[in-house]
Amino acid sequence: MGKPEAYIPEIAQADLADWRAGTHGIPYVWRFDSGRLGPRLWLNALTHGNEACGALALAALLRRHPMPLHGSLTISFANPTAAFRGSSSDPLGVRCIDEDLNRVWGRLDDRLRSHELLRARELRPLTKDCDALIDLHAMTHPTEPLAIVGLMERRRALARGRALAERIGFPTLLIADAGHASGVRLRDYGPFASDDGSAAAVLVECGGWWERRSVSVAFDVVARALAAFELLPGDLLDAYRADAPVAPAQKTGPTRLVEAARTITVATDRFRFAENFHGDEIIPRAGTVIAWDGDEAIATPFDSCFLMFPTTKPQKGTTAVRLGRFV
Ligand SMILES: [Zn+2]
Repeated sequence: MGKPEAYIPEIAQADLADWRAGTHGIPYVWRFDSGRLGPRLWLNALTHGNEACGALALAALLRRHPMPLHGSLTISFANPTAAFRGSSSDPLGVRCIDEDLNRVWGRLDDRLRSHELLRARELRPLTKDCDALIDLHAMTHPTEPLAIVGLMERRRALARGRALAERIGFPTLLIADAGHASGVRLRDYGPFASDDGSAAAVLVECGGWWERRSVSVAFDVVARALAAFELLPGDLLDAYRADAPVAPAQKTGPTRLVEAARTITVATDRFRFAENFHGDEIIPRAGTVIAWDGDEAIATPFDSCFLMFPTTKPQKGTTAVRLGRFV
């Protein structure tokens, strides 16, 4: 399987020197409050340090002094320390310093003092003052842009995430999954995943972490969200769109929702995929062998089986791949 290092970056990490101070005492968090009632939108990037596309799009937005017409707009860079830890093997920075920031949200009150836990505690107040969160990410392998809109077992919260994604209009490929056994994502934290809440969140995978195209996808998603909530004047949004590195050529159209119907967990030390899957593949026929675990063949259980996030490092007890069904 291709390792992330196999991809040569077409972009450089965002320069965030001007955005360190923040507006309310939290480094790299900028909050613009119109003083008028309205939607409270939170745009976040760099949950994973090496995923530069969202940071490039949000830094460009900050340069436009985006004071909203109503409601509030919060712009944050979640893990700049990881983003700035670049090297020849990780030219855009590293995914995290101590642990994955997108797995710590279920244990914020732990005694542990990992870099990411401390940062998540700093960011926690933002989750309580937000109606809609867009968390911008990038993928390890080339894939079509997609939005993770909720957890399958939280139907009302899932409906809110789906409605938010449909309101933004892109990406059109929407995923409902079961989260991760290894920890809670920001998208699935507190008010965003509560069936009783009213806040909505989507995690957008813009494309490959190294790709210029992913930056344009991030610009497009941000501009669409700002337009959907009527937060910024049209001429400012036009100027912002023109800052994108390449014009977005996004497929738009009706959204498709895929639910993770089954999780394949690695059972032996001899797990291997039948092909070099990158994710997003649709296997037409039920009964197609997609992997071997020891001597056991693993076959698709239904037609049009969507492969979600196949692992590049199959280890016993971890998730190998999720099998998605179109609903
Ligand atoms: Zn990510």
